Amino acid sequence: MGKPTGFLEIARETPARRPAPARVRDWNEVYESFPADGVKAQAARCMDCGVPFCHTGCPLNNLIPDWNDLVYRDRWREAIRALHATNNFPEFTGRICPAPCETSCVLGINSPAVAIKAVEQNIIDHAFRQGWIVPEPPQRRTGKRVAIIGSGPAGLAAAQQLNRFGHAVTVFEKQDRAGGLLRYGIPDFKLEKHHVDRRLEQMRAEGVDIRTGVSAGVDVSAEELRSLFDAILLATGAEQPRDLRVPGRDLPGIHFAMDFLTAQNRRNAGDAPQSPLSAAGKHVIIIGGGDTGADCLGTSHRQGARSVRQLELLPVPPAERSPLTPWPLWPLQLRQESSHEEGGIREWSVATTSFSGEGRVQRLHAVRVGPPPRFDPESGTAFEMEADLVLLAMGFTGPARGPLLDQLGVDLDSQGNIAVDGRRRTTSNGVFAAGDARRGQSLVVWAIAEGRQAAEEIHRWLQP
Ligand SMILES: Cc1cc2nc3c(=O)[nH]c(=O)nc-3n(C[C@H](O)[C@H](O)[C@H](O)COP(=O)(O)OP(=O)(O)OC[C@H]3O[C@@H](n4cnc5c(N)ncnc54)[C@H](O)[C@@H]3O)c2cc1C
Ligand code: SF4
Repeated sequence: MGKPTGFLEIARETPARRPAPARVRDWNEVYESFPADGVKAQAARCMDCGVPFCHTGCPLNNLIPDWNDLVYRDRWREAIRALHATNNFPEFTGRICPAPCETSCVLGINSPAVAIKAVEQNIIDHAFRQGWIVPEPPQRRTGKRVAIIGSGPAGLAAAQQLNRFGHAVTVFEKQDRAGGLLRYGIPDFKLEKHHVDRRLEQMRAEGVDIRTGVSAGVDVSAEELRSLFDAILLATGAEQPRDLRVPGRDLPGIHFAMDFLTAQNRRNAGDAPQSPLSAAGKHVIIIGGGDTGADCLGTSHRQGARSVRQLELLPVPPAERSPLTPWPLWPLQLRQESSHEEGGIREWSVATTSFSGEGRVQRLHAVRVGPPPRFDPESGTAFEMEADLVLLAMGFTGPARGPLLDQLGVDLDSQGNIAVDGRRRTTSNGVFAAGDARRGQSLVVWAIAEGRQAAEEIHRWLQP
């Protein structure tokens, strides 16, 4: 424990967000950097608890009190070693994780939690600046070959681990750039893509073969994969978007959120001249009050939308942690993402009943509803709104039903995700699954954790 009285003397501070009017004029990350002294002070607030609940909140079981102590003592090189011991990509989680570790931090019982995420980000950023993050190729090769399908955080974490165990790893990615949702879902203002490129560079230098523009099941068959590789990991994500089948759904101007976000990410990367689905000058309505919806909100403002509304079926959550989710549980409470500070109107307890318009969508028709699970429409509350662009951000229903799963003969579970046993094995011999493809739509931190666990299981399975 760095400073025994730190939590009594020092207030929680986190990196400031750039002013909203300035940041909506560019695509750069929203947060400002944190001075090194500020990071050390925040690390000093950690109490090094006998039972560190932050560990249990974190799906990666990050060694949080250890690296807090090391940062406080200016032992940054050891801090990055401790951080990398459980997390391949802290530069991603340090920026975009909702930090379940912080909501389960013991200090959070009666004061603001330790700023764990800010400390994490600063450790890895410092390590990159110092040149400490270099390729770590394996000492020897095992002669075994593993194919990983999908280059999101689950696939990449598994690839780095398996390669470091000495196996020859090939990652197949159907998109033209690697990174999964880190690349094409999450906007640049949350995660600039040079962070992804830098990691890919390290992995390639370690010997991981990353092949983009290859759709497994189409460009390379399951049979070919089986003949070329000793094991296959499916890390294909949960790409199937939830649809809203109401009258008028097929009118032009109604799109899935991912099509909208991907188009802008491609444009920012210089891969497309301008977003074909631009919100510029339009009345935008986002259906879905979650993170994907918030990303559409921030993107719409940066594109110059005339107005933006975000509709949610559920009632507004409480401003403070609900008593239904006491510490150390993940709290039910209203979240104010950076995009919400930038403008737009959030509406709760609203169900869309239809769309209408001449030749394209012009109006969205809706009704106010009661609480779950029935969401009964409230009589006399029907209303309509102008809508030039409607974005469906209502979550995902599992992996895309492409030819690969059929060719491999893997079963799905009752939720429509890839079914696995306790050792990440699917119903098809030598085929494993991890990340959103297995657990459904989730978080980057879970994807990394699952990728690492799958790598352990595959490594064990490949032993003679
Ligand atoms: C808009 C949006 C914003 C989000 N924001 C956050 C956030 O702020 N913080 C957070 O923690 N989480 C966030 N998430 C969730 C997070 O991105 C996912 O949980 C995580 O990326 C899942 O990782 P994955 O590796 O399992 O799958 P993915 O990242 O989805 O990657 C799967 C990859 O597999 C590829 N693929 C699929 N089928 C094939 C095939 N047949 N052949 C070859 N390649 C294939 C896909 O092209 C894709 O690149 C967000 C999700 C979305 C949609
Ligand atoms: S629970 Fe909070 S105070 Fe306790 S060890 Fe973890 S980060 Fe430190």
